[in-house]
Amino acid sequence: MTSPALPDRWPEEAPPRFHLLAKPSGSTCNIDCTYCFFLSKEALYPNDKSRMSEATLETYLRQLLESHRSPTVTVAWQGGEPTLMRVEFFRRAVELVEQYRQPDQVVQHTFQTNGILLDDEWCEFFKEHNFLVGLSCDGPRELHDTYRRDRRTRGTFDKVMDGWRLLRQHDVDFNILCTVNAANQDHGRLVYSFFRDELGAKWVQFIPIVERATPETLAIANQGWSAPEKGSKRLLYTQTGNLVTERSVGSAQYGRFLIDVFEEWVRHDVGAVFVQLFDVTLEAFFGRHLLCIHAPTCGNGPSLEHNGDLYSCDHFVEPDYLLGNIHKTHMLTLLATPQQRKFGMDKRDTLTRQCQDCKVRHLCNGGCPKDRFSTSRDGEEGHNYLCAGLEAFFMHTGPTFTVMAQLLQQGKPPSEVMAAVKAQDRERGPYAPCPCGSGEKFRFCHGPKASSSPFTGISAS
Ligand code: SF4
Ligand code: SF4
Repeated sequence: MTSPALPDRWPEEAPPRFHLLAKPSGSTCNIDCTYCFFLSKEALYPNDKSRMSEATLETYLRQLLESHRSPTVTVAWQGGEPTLMRVEFFRRAVELVEQYRQPDQVVQHTFQTNGILLDDEWCEFFKEHNFLVGLSCDGPRELHDTYRRDRRTRGTFDKVMDGWRLLRQHDVDFNILCTVNAANQDHGRLVYSFFRDELGAKWVQFIPIVERATPETLAIANQGWSAPEKGSKRLLYTQTGNLVTERSVGSAQYGRFLIDVFEEWVRHDVGAVFVQLFDVTLEAFFGRHLLCIHAPTCGNGPSLEHNGDLYSCDHFVEPDYLLGNIHKTHMLTLLATPQQRKFGMDKRDTLTRQCQDCKVRHLCNGGCPKDRFSTSRDGEEGHNYLCAGLEAFFMHTGPTFTVMAQLLQQGKPPSEVMAAVKAQDRERGPYAPCPCGSGEKFRFCHGPKASSSPFTGISAS
């Protein structure tokens, strides 16, 4: 198999760094989560075992490392379920990284798993090579097991907890990746407290489940994306349609979930537990956008399939967004193509008027294009389905993030905000008006009305 060399001239449009998600076992998984539309992507590679070959592995890692102009590179494994590849595959990956890494490059390995196949061997390997392991869990048993089920429709909670225990025993760094869906959307505080108190999680990431459908596909989509042997007709999920499945999170509910988590976090856990959205929101106050979803533009988060096919984004693994194959064209060239640059710029260039005029645009930036299938207040199409929730979250938390940003500017730790919030609680009581300007009582506030003014209230003294 051929292996293209780095282009002689560095493409002008190539990003200096990017975050590629590699799927060594394609979309294949050992469980059958009802909301997981990635399972349907197997239909893109029919009669294919979906396993990355050593030749593709080597081509991928060489191109990834030589395509970065930044001192740090992330090698991120995802699926499907990457543990289906067995440990030996990743041992070889680590060897190849050492072989191709430039002397001054620091490489971070990350690995997203459902935790079911973890054992001592896996965890020893992760520990030895400083992997950061993402463990998928949707909360306590009854919430987790609603959608995260195996192929015989049995809940997977106990097996995930076995995996979590092993990660803890081997002192592996892990974060929790939790989807927010129709089952857990009303339990933000409970879910967050479970991760913090029961699992000892220090890093938590929340991902909204938004499964799109058309009037024609909705009924089939509501049955899930499972394998055809279940008797359902298989659909290939694509980002089309302006309806959502019954498992999808509601827009307002998503905002309430995030606000509930925030209100718990900001009193007890700033500086101790890192919630991805909260971290990136604080960074955005300094003009740094660390998460593509809330950055002005995107296009630097491609997805690599097991056979070397490179797609624009993990959420757009579909034929129209195939950039090419890294065995034929170097990934740096593919990332610099007008097609991919346009994909990234469209995030900014297709904002609705409502987004352009929005008071929290600098924090939200219209969210992810995959969720833009709703209608804005002025009736414009292409607006973010999650807008009501995103707006409520950013408006409600704005005053407190402003204080944290002020603390940082004063050279103080943002965790000092906890004392300010608690003092405010004592002074005003939970039934005083919320400082976010909603007019709601503080304890019951779930975000301001769109017309109210953000970023007023408590201040760093
Ligand atoms: S489409 Fe969404 S997930 Fe993909 S890179 Fe853009 S913002 Fe990120
Ligand atoms: S909160 Fe809504 S209107 Fe504001 S930028 Fe985000 S999606 Fe657009």
